[in-house]
Amino acid sequence: MAQFQAVKGARDIFPDEVVRWHHVEGVIRSVAALYGFSEIRTPVFEYTELFQRGIGSTTDIVGKEMFSFLPDPNGRSITLRPEMTAGVMRACLQKNLLSLAPVHKLYYISDLFRKERPQAGRQRQFSQFGAELLGVSSPAAVAEVLTFMMQVFETLGLHGLRLRINSLGDVEDRARYREALREYFLPYAADLDESSKERLEKNPLRILDSKNPALKEMIAGAPRLYAYLKPEAVADFEKVLSFLSDRAIAYDIDHLLVRGLDYYCHAAFEVTSSELGAQDAIGGGGRYDSLAKELGGTADLPAVGFAVGMERLMIAMEKQGLFATLNPHGPLVYVVVQQQELSDHGMQVAFRLRKAGLKVEIDLAARSMKAQMREANRIGSSYALFIGQTEHESGLYSLKNLVTSEQTSLSLDAVIEILSTPG
Ligand code: AMP
Repeated sequence: MAQFQAVKGARDIFPDEVVRWHHVEGVIRSVAALYGFSEIRTPVFEYTELFQRGIGSTTDIVGKEMFSFLPDPNGRSITLRPEMTAGVMRACLQKNLLSLAPVHKLYYISDLFRKERPQAGRQRQFSQFGAELLGVSSPAAVAEVLTFMMQVFETLGLHGLRLRINSLGDVEDRARYREALREYFLPYAADLDESSKERLEKNPLRILDSKNPALKEMIAGAPRLYAYLKPEAVADFEKVLSFLSDRAIAYDIDHLLVRGLDYYCHAAFEVTSSELGAQDAIGGGGRYDSLAKELGGTADLPAVGFAVGMERLMIAMEKQGLFATLNPHGPLVYVVVQQQELSDHGMQVAFRLRKAGLKVEIDLAARSMKAQMREANRIGSSYALFIGQTEHESGLYSLKNLVTSEQTSLSLDAVIEILSTPG
């Protein structure tokens, strides 16, 4: 029988790569703490309607990319989450979080599932870190989440990122703009590709998202959303921009940035990396005040958030050599058993050292002493502790520093004391 392979679009992460994940996750968690964001974890699946309502049925995610199934013949359809915002909002509404405090700052690092065609930087199971700030979506709140996100990138050492930002205005602004776009594109309808024709019907804003080079010129000549914003929306956007300038965060205004999801309003942003190929988006986000109502909340709930793809973030970091200095510490001590009759004693010693808080490795395969030493060096141990008959009888063990080759004879208590002392 042929060997099993991982499902297409899903990948395994082995220990040497997990070290990188821990590093990135550690930075995210520490920067989140600086900004007062707390972690939320929601279920991997939700009722399918949540995403249909929360993301919008005209989007590719809902239209083509969801992994949905019926849990039992009479059950409601369930979907593996393709993004986090709808689930986080559902959780907060369900718990009535806003009755406990007016503002909530949440972040997550979670696995997501989309039925996209797998390619470099695009998987069917992938991971995002992101934040949701609920209860206020003022320019200061937008700046808060953006600054949090940018500080994570900066702390990781990532450079060459480009932040693009746009204002989508409110529902009325967008309705007027949608009409203007429809009027603009209608005379070109015959020249549009199939998906843009469909978008012209359902949501002409999304034509601006098109990557089709044949439409580039036509799109560049389209009316700009900015011209349809109310003065309050313009002032709001300018305030966001001035916050960014105050924090020395560079940005480009991109009039074509409309984001794929229906629930965005006002500020929307995207970050791209020059290190990534065709799939150059690292993350994006914006305001989504109307999402709560869409999900059955009683009123609009001001909200702003972002999501960053972990895999793409790490591809960009790898290209910039940002993992090169990441040095996973091997075990501190390798317990080397000289004769197999002493292996039980060796295990006991290892156990005692571990109970005392030391990182210890020991051979479990009854290998020769030479093989044990080779292994100790291969995995980067700092010390070898030899277990021989004399050591066993005297209670004094030879501890060898594998860097300096210095060797001393010590009781186990002394070994613990020396190795527990930092430095
Ligand atoms: P989105 O939720 O579509 O705005 O995506 C936010 C970020 O998640 C993107 O900028 C990517 O970095 C990442 N992302 C989205 N879809 C995928 C995927 N299929 N595979 C890997 N990363 C993805």
